[in-house]
Amino acid sequence: MKWKNVLLCALVCVLNGCLILGLFTIQREIGVGDLAADSGEVAPFTKEEETKYVALTFDDGPHARYTEELLDGLKERGVRATFFLIGKSIEGNEDVIKRMSQEGHLIGNHTYSHVQLSKETVESAVQEIEKTNQEIFAVTGKVPEYIRPPFGSWNSKLDDQVEMTVVLWTVDPLDWKTQNTQYVVNHIKKNVKNNSIILLHDVYKTSVQAALEIVDCLQEEGYEFVTVDELMLE
Ligand SMILES: [Zn+2]
Repeated sequence: MKWKNVLLCALVCVLNGCLILGLFTIQREIGVGDLAADSGEVAPFTKEEETKYVALTFDDGPHARYTEELLDGLKERGVRATFFLIGKSIEGNEDVIKRMSQEGHLIGNHTYSHVQLSKETVESAVQEIEKTNQEIFAVTGKVPEYIRPPFGSWNSKLDDQVEMTVVLWTVDPLDWKTQNTQYVVNHIKKNVKNNSIILLHDVYKTSVQAALEIVDCLQEEGYEFVTVDELMLE
């Protein structure tokens, strides 16, 4: 019977050994994780983050000077955006609109003279929209499919008259009101999330500066910039 006791003792010793070794390993792993967190490195067990998408949209342009500066900055950063143009600002700015189209930006309609569509008669509202579509088509060869109603105010009576997709926004830093680059950047950084549509106006220098700063910042955070049609297809 004695050999059985010896065998049992040996088995207990082996199990204890495994347990101690196991605990030791767990402690070491926790230690490594803590060290990585302390030194600011990414811990080895962190899951890789998924791509987040965001769309920059610009209303009220084109502007002879600031839209060009914006296009330069976006090109440098490999970013495409969406521009909702005012029809009456198109004449004289054809080159910048052609460039917009050639560089892959999406061009949409923001009415001919920035009217509040809900306050217009259906006839006048349709004219505001169609005239702008014609002007954009004359420059780019493409009929716009997307419209952003000024003041975000769509007229539901137009649903049967106008075959366009209405695009509103989810992040509004009130850039036109503050005209303060840092305020606009901070507001966007605080409120942006996956699939956000950011509203800006490319007719202010401060907005163009804020837009480019936001691109640099969000690209570092893993965001990919897309046009609104791409976002809506997701
Ligand atoms: Zn507007």
